[in-house]
Amino acid sequence: MAPTLFGMHVQVESPNTGLSFEVGVPSNSSSGELRIKDAKPYLVCTEDCPNEHCGLKLHARGPGDVLFSRTKALPAAGGIPVECQSCKTRWNAARSSFRQTTAVLKEMRCPLSGHRWEHVIEPLDHSGGNKILVNKFAYDIGEPQRWDVIVFSFDQWKNYIKRLVGLPGEKIDLVYGDVYVNGRIERKPEHPYIQSVLWKKISDSSVREGGLSRVKAWKEPKGVGVGAWQELADGRWSITSAKSSEPALLEYQRGLDNYIPYNSLSGNSPRHYSVGDMKLGFTVRPATSGGWIGAEIRDGDWTFQLRLPTGKPAPGRPAVLERVVNEPRSDIKNPLKLRHPAPGIFQEKEGISLRLNEESRIDLVNCDDCLIVRLNSEIIFSLKAAEGYVTVPDVGNPPPPADHSQYYLRLLGNRVNANVEEIEIWQDIYYTSDYGGRWSHGIQLEDESFFALGDNSPSSSDGRFWGSVPGDNMLGKALLVFWPGWPDNFQLRFIR
Ligand SMILES: [Zn+2]
Ligand SMILES: [Zn+2]
Repeated sequence: MAPTLFGMHVQVESPNTGLSFEVGVPSNSSSGELRIKDAKPYLVCTEDCPNEHCGLKLHARGPGDVLFSRTKALPAAGGIPVECQSCKTRWNAARSSFRQTTAVLKEMRCPLSGHRWEHVIEPLDHSGGNKILVNKFAYDIGEPQRWDVIVFSFDQWKNYIKRLVGLPGEKIDLVYGDVYVNGRIERKPEHPYIQSVLWKKISDSSVREGGLSRVKAWKEPKGVGVGAWQELADGRWSITSAKSSEPALLEYQRGLDNYIPYNSLSGNSPRHYSVGDMKLGFTVRPATSGGWIGAEIRDGDWTFQLRLPTGKPAPGRPAVLERVVNEPRSDIKNPLKLRHPAPGIFQEKEGISLRLNEESRIDLVNCDDCLIVRLNSEIIFSLKAAEGYVTVPDVGNPPPPADHSQYYLRLLGNRVNANVEEIEIWQDIYYTSDYGGRWSHGIQLEDESFFALGDNSPSSSDGRFWGSVPGDNMLGKALLVFWPGWPDNFQLRFIR
């Protein structure tokens, strides 16, 4: 059978946001036979959930967790009580709305809102969701560059498509999701557009939600100037911060781990890791001058804080970027070691401010041990080669699992009235250093051999598992790339 770029999958729609994403269906790669554990015959109700804030379409349960069964006949007359597996709404459904199917019931998590529900996944989808998009790789013969997507043969039967990460003679480390080459961080370039392809949006305040998620995206943490931030309609916020020495905080509440919905049906559940490489973007419109609006990213050892003055630029009121070193926590048993023992940083710039009653777009980008701040697309701060930034960090083996107390995102303001909207969070690709229980920290490549990784790192069979690729097996550079299972990313892109 021909190799596949995009494996067997089904479309799953989030009942909370309406976003549709792909979930891979495990299959035997040579025979194409589906390999889903626990697929069983079910009787399902095909009536939409009557709750207008919920969009779940297939239901397999009644009140009291009763599973509709093929063997027990449904009552001949009257409605059949159904309980929504997303919002718990109960209603009586028509008998004619039931049909038989083979399915798995699986807890799903909406990639943009974190809402969890039990989804009826039918591996043999009636809507024809199973697709193999490409069954023949197209590639250019030529010398591939790092980060190119490459096509190579690895055994006599199969061609593979992966991203080229390591070149002949190099030593490769994967630490905290990032790639280190010969002991130094290897940053993904913006041109050609590698990094932009690998950003993955995990939150967007402009996306309308049904309100089903138990955890609100943004909330004021307890105690600190509570009440200054107010949620308005359509995911917008306002801040009214009185004269106070402490800034008013708004903190992101949902997961910052490396969850990938595409892998929901793969048998093994990989460990989740916290992802500190994040981009926070928001649009602000200040109504008062003399105060400031800012943002904060905590990435393990370090907290970065940005403060931008509002109103006309004035002497003595500079824009500020600060890096604070967080001491390892003493209240937990195995505190994270400081990855980068390095001093704090304080930078200030005069002449930069947020104009009154005008919209400004701010991006705080923390990626691959580099911090950049953009104001209306222009870079105003950049920390790239600061001390302690670039070398392989001293890490335990393997790294600790997700610890959310070490990672957060905040918006903050002081002595200011302003509106904030279009708050978006993106995550960098996170290369896990373990695969199938194997630890692959530190790989020395021979001459003429390459190291390749899949973009779907938690479940990609790649160089972490089978080592390096001999140069003779390289076929060329792929012409298409894809990112599976993410609403914004499911598109094939031509590589120029
Ligand atoms: Zn519902
Ligand atoms: Zn990174």
